[in-house]
Amino acid sequence: MLGQMMTAPLLISSLIDHAARYHRDTDVISVNTGGGEEHTTWGQVGRNSRQLASALTHLGLAPQTRCATIAWNNRRHLEIYFGVSGGGFVCHTINPRLFPEQLVYIINHAEDEVLFIDSTFVPLVAAIRDKLSSLKHIVLLEAEVGEAARILPGIIAYDDLLTQGDAGYLWPQFDEFTASSLCYTSGTTGNPKGVLFSHRSTVLHSFACNLADSIGFSAMDVVLPVVPMFHVNAWGSPYACAMVGARVVLPGPGLDGPSLVGLIDHHKINVALGVPTIWLGLLGEAEKAGSTLESLQKTVVGGSACPPSMIAAFRERYGVETIHAWGMTEMSPIGSVNQPLAKHMDLELDALHRLRENQGRPPWGVELAIVDDAGNPLPHDGETQGELVVRGQFILDAYFRSTREETLQEGWFNTGDVATLDPDGYLSIRDRSKDIIKSGGEWISSVELENIAIAHPQLADAAVIGARHEKWDERPVLVAVKSEGQEPEVAEILSIYEGKIAKWQIPDTVVFTDVLPRNATGKVLKRDLRDTFGNVLMQ
Ligand code: AMP
Repeated sequence: MLGQMMTAPLLISSLIDHAARYHRDTDVISVNTGGGEEHTTWGQVGRNSRQLASALTHLGLAPQTRCATIAWNNRRHLEIYFGVSGGGFVCHTINPRLFPEQLVYIINHAEDEVLFIDSTFVPLVAAIRDKLSSLKHIVLLEAEVGEAARILPGIIAYDDLLTQGDAGYLWPQFDEFTASSLCYTSGTTGNPKGVLFSHRSTVLHSFACNLADSIGFSAMDVVLPVVPMFHVNAWGSPYACAMVGARVVLPGPGLDGPSLVGLIDHHKINVALGVPTIWLGLLGEAEKAGSTLESLQKTVVGGSACPPSMIAAFRERYGVETIHAWGMTEMSPIGSVNQPLAKHMDLELDALHRLRENQGRPPWGVELAIVDDAGNPLPHDGETQGELVVRGQFILDAYFRSTREETLQEGWFNTGDVATLDPDGYLSIRDRSKDIIKSGGEWISSVELENIAIAHPQLADAAVIGARHEKWDERPVLVAVKSEGQEPEVAEILSIYEGKIAKWQIPDTVVFTDVLPRNATGKVLKRDLRDTFGNVLMQ
C-alpha cells in the first residue's frame, strides 16, 4: 500500500519561495566587490532569482546546462544559487584560488556554458578565455560592464541579463533527484574531482543543518557566512538560511580581520561560519581594536581542525560558543557537529569544555564507521583508530563522470581521514591518512601535535609532518611560523608538549618557515612541507 500524501518534490526553488513568501522583508546585506554595502531582502532575492532563471531560459540553455560562478559572497551570487538551480540548470561554483590550469581543466570537464564572474576575476578569466571550449556567455556581476568589456569582449552585465527575464516566471517542477549544483574538490594530488549535488540532497542537507543539535539557524539570527560560496556552497548555509528566513550578511571580498570585526559589530551578527585561519585573523584584530564582539554568540568552525586554544579564546575572552564541525565536499559538506548530549550536563565544566573540542557527532543523514586497511569494521570505543567511512542521504554516490564502483567501497565512501569514534558517535579526527606519522610502527596524530603547538604565544602558525628517520622510519617534526617580533628557542617551544602527550610523541625538532603553503581552501599542503623538510633528521 502506498502512502497517501502529496508528492511535492524536494526542490531548491521551494527554499527561496518559502523565504520570499514568509520572510520577504527580512534583510539580506551584501558587501559590494567595489566597496560599499547593499541592503536587500529575501523577497527581492526571490524575485531576482526567478527573473534570472527566466532570462537563462531565454538564452536558450538546455535543462541541466552547467552555469559556473567565480565570485565572492554577495547578493547576486546568492540569486544565482537559487535562479540557476531553481530553473533546472546546474550551478557550478569555482574556487578562484585554484591554479589557472586547474580552472581550465574543471571548466572544460564540467562543460560550463555560462560563467558569472565578479570584477575581481576579469583578468583571471581573460588569461584563460581562449582555452575554455564550451563557454558561450560571460556575465559580470555588476550593473554595467564598464572596463571589463575591453578585456573580455562580449561580456554582459548581470543586471542587463536580469531585465531579459520574465517577472511572472514560475519555477519548473521536476524530479528531486535532478542535479542542482556542482563543486570540485580541491584535492592536493591529481585533477580535482566533481561532486554533483541533487535538489533532494541539498534540501535534506539543509534540514540536517537546521536541526537544533546541528547548526540550527533561525529567523532570529543574523548570519555571517565567511566560508566562501565557492567552498562547498558556503557549507550549505545559503540554502539553510533561506529555509528558516535568517538574516544574512554576505561579506564580499574583504575576509581580513578588520573587515570582519567591523561587519560583526555594525550588523550585530550573532552566528558566523568559517575556517580556523580566518578566525585567527579575527581574534587578533578584535584584540587590537578593543572590540568585545558583543553581538556574537556562536562561531561554526570547520574545514580543518579547530585548535582547542581557539575555542578557549572565543569562550573566555568574548563569551562566544564555538561549534566545531567536520565534513567534506563529498558530504554536502556536514558530517558531524559538536553539540553535547543531555547526560553531559552533569559533567564538571572542564570535562564539558574538553568534550566540545572534538569534531562532534553526526546529524541525521550521516552514518559514520571506522575500518582497518582491509575494510574490516573497527570498534567505536573512542580509542581505536581507523579509516573513516561514511554513507547517508546527502553523501556522494559517484564523482561527476565517474562510476559508483570507482567511488565507493561496498556502499561506503572512504573519507581519507583517520579517526576514532566513541559509542555516542563523537568523532575525533587524528589525521589525513596520507599525513599520519608512523614512528616505529606506532601512529602519531599530527593534528594533536599541531593543536598543542598553536597555543604557544610565540608561534603564529604550526604544522607537523613525518620526517624520514633512520631508526624509526618517521619522526614528527614541527614546522612553525614565528609570531611577529618573536625569536623562540627550539627547546622552549618543545617544552610546551611536556606533560600533555607521551614523551615518544614529542616532535624531534622544530624548523621555522615564513609561511605555511596552503591549498585553495586553506588546508596546509603537507606534501610540500615533506618535500622541503622531510630530510631534516637525516643530516
Ligand atoms: P573539503 O572537501 O575541501 O572540505 O575537505 C574535507 C577534508 O577537510 C576532510 O576530509 C578533513 O580532512 C578536513 N576537515 C574538515 N573539517 C575538519 C575538522 N573540523 N577537523 C579536521 N579536519 C577537517
